[in-house]
Amino acid sequence: MVITMHYGVIPSQAGGHSYYEFRIFFFSGVTRWVVCIATILFVLTGCSLHPKDRFIKNIKAIAHKDYNISNGELLAKYNLIGFSGKNMCVFAKNYGDIIGNENTHNGFLKYMPKGLKKNASLTNKIAGKIGTIYDRLDNINKNHHIITKAELHEFKILFSHIHSSSGSAFDLVSHSGNHNHDLNLLAKVDKIIDNIPVFVPFTDSIVTSKFGRRQLNKREGVKLHAGVDLAAAKFSNIYASAQGVVKEIAASPSYGNFILIEHKKNIKTRYAHLSKLYVSLGEKIFQGQLIGKQGSTGKSHNDHLHFEILIKNHPVDPMGFIGKEHSCRKAL
Ligand SMILES: [Zn+2]
Repeated sequence: MVITMHYGVIPSQAGGHSYYEFRIFFFSGVTRWVVCIATILFVLTGCSLHPKDRFIKNIKAIAHKDYNISNGELLAKYNLIGFSGKNMCVFAKNYGDIIGNENTHNGFLKYMPKGLKKNASLTNKIAGKIGTIYDRLDNINKNHHIITKAELHEFKILFSHIHSSSGSAFDLVSHSGNHNHDLNLLAKVDKIIDNIPVFVPFTDSIVTSKFGRRQLNKREGVKLHAGVDLAAAKFSNIYASAQGVVKEIAASPSYGNFILIEHKKNIKTRYAHLSKLYVSLGEKIFQGQLIGKQGSTGKSHNDHLHFEILIKNHPVDPMGFIGKEHSCRKAL
C-alpha cells in the first residue's frame, strides 16, 4: 500500500486578521483512518504513561544499556546502588522521591556507579535490605499472621540462594541464565513486600507521638492514639506505604483531610491531617506513590502526618512495620 499525501500552508483572511491554515489531504479514506487511529494511539500511549511507568521505562533502558542490569525498579526501590543512606528510609528517599521528582530521578541515574555489573557487594546489600524486611515481617507474623507459609518460603529460598552463592554469584547482571534466575527470586519477594506497608510514608521525619493509650486531657480521659505521628518539613511529600486501592477520601473534624488505602490481607493504611491530596477514590496506588502533602487539617496543632495501619479494621502499632529507622536525617 502506498500512502500518498501532500500538505501545504495556505494563507487566508478572517475577521480582518490574517492567519495560516495547516491542511493535510489524504487520497484514501482507509489510509486516513489508519493514520488517525495510529496518531491517537501514539498520543495516548505517550501521554498516559504513569510517572512510575515512565521512570521505570527510563531507568530500565539506561540500566540495561550502560550497566547490563535488567531490573531498574528493584535497583531504585531497594537503593541497591547505595549512593545515599543506609537505613530503611531509603525507600521513600530513593523510590517515592525519584518517581515524583524528575531532578531526583536524573540525579539517581547520574550517580549510578560505572562498572556496577562487577560489583559483588550488591549481594550483601540485597541480603541486608531484604533481610531487615524479612525480620520485621516475621515479627509481625507472630501476632497478625499476614504472611502465608508459601510467602515465607519464597523468602527462605532467596536467602538460601544468597548464602549459597557466597557473595559473588548472586548478582543483578542479566547476561547469564543463572543471574536471571536470581532476579526472578528477588522479584517474587518484591511482589510480597509490595503489599505490606513497610514503606516509610515520608522521606525525612521524626516521631512526635507514638501509638498507644495516652491521656489526651482531663475531659476526654485516657484514649487510644490509633497511629503514629510523624513530622517533617512543611508541605513534605507523603508516599503510600504499600500498594492498594483508595477506599476513602474525606475531611473529618478529627482526622482533617485523610486518605484510607485498602491493601491485600485485610490491611488498610490511613494518612491524616493532609494539606493536599493527589489521589481519587477507587484509584490503584503503588508502593511509594506520591499521594499527598503534610498539613495540619482537623484536630492538629502542628504540621504532621497521623499514620495508621489497620488489620481487620483494628489499629496496630505502625512502628512494627515501618521500623524505627523512620528518619533519613542521620543517613543524609
Ligand atoms: Zn496522631
